[in-house]
Amino acid sequence: MKFVLASNNAKKISEMRRILEKIAPDVELLSLADVGYISDIEENGKTFVENALIKARVPASLGYIGIADDSGLAVDALGGAPGVYSARYAGEGHDDKANKAKLLRELEGVADEDRTAHFVCVIACVFPESYGISPIVCEGRCDGIITREERGDGGFGYDPLFYVPSEGATFAEIPPERKNEISHRGRALRAFAEAIAPLFNDLEEKKST
Ligand code: IMP
Repeated sequence: MKFVLASNNAKKISEMRRILEKIAPDVELLSLADVGYISDIEENGKTFVENALIKARVPASLGYIGIADDSGLAVDALGGAPGVYSARYAGEGHDDKANKAKLLRELEGVADEDRTAHFVCVIACVFPESYGISPIVCEGRCDGIITREERGDGGFGYDPLFYVPSEGATFAEIPPERKNEISHRGRALRAFAEAIAPLFNDLEEKKST
């Protein structure tokens, strides 16, 4: 069954494909570009759920089953920031390097025990209106601690600053397969695979009518 991921981010699409092919082999993930949509989608929601739904509605409005994720880092000492602004924490057009530097600056002087944080990932799946199926929304979370300096060179985004006590390592120090097992995104995708499984028969019928 074809699903269109509301993203043209090649890294994200391949990470999602890798996780989904193991847990939901019936899901074939296409990108927006694969179905000829190349415009950017404005993510102007105030929560991860709102943003994931905004994105997943785009393929659905084109007649495809739309799936989208929205994720970010919430730091307790910063009242949940950077949250939905994680990708542009240091300002529009800034990159991971600037975002990480800003995070370390904001946490200067914050004690080790107060540097708790978590990553959140919300997966939304929206069906074309004619299917008459309500959107599915699943969430995954991973808890950690913000380090005082970068550790490791794997992963992306804030990974080198996100230490997971149970692993004794940052996200950037553990292999991608292990990250997928414990990460917010892996957890959200497994919840999504479980939620979607009972719908497969129903969806096959709708497709053939
Ligand atoms: P989005 O879900 O594509 O909007 O990405 C949100 C932002 O959150 C990314 O640009 C990263 O800065 C951050 N982020 C989300 N997931 C991760 C992760 O697994 N590791 C590191 N940073 C992440």
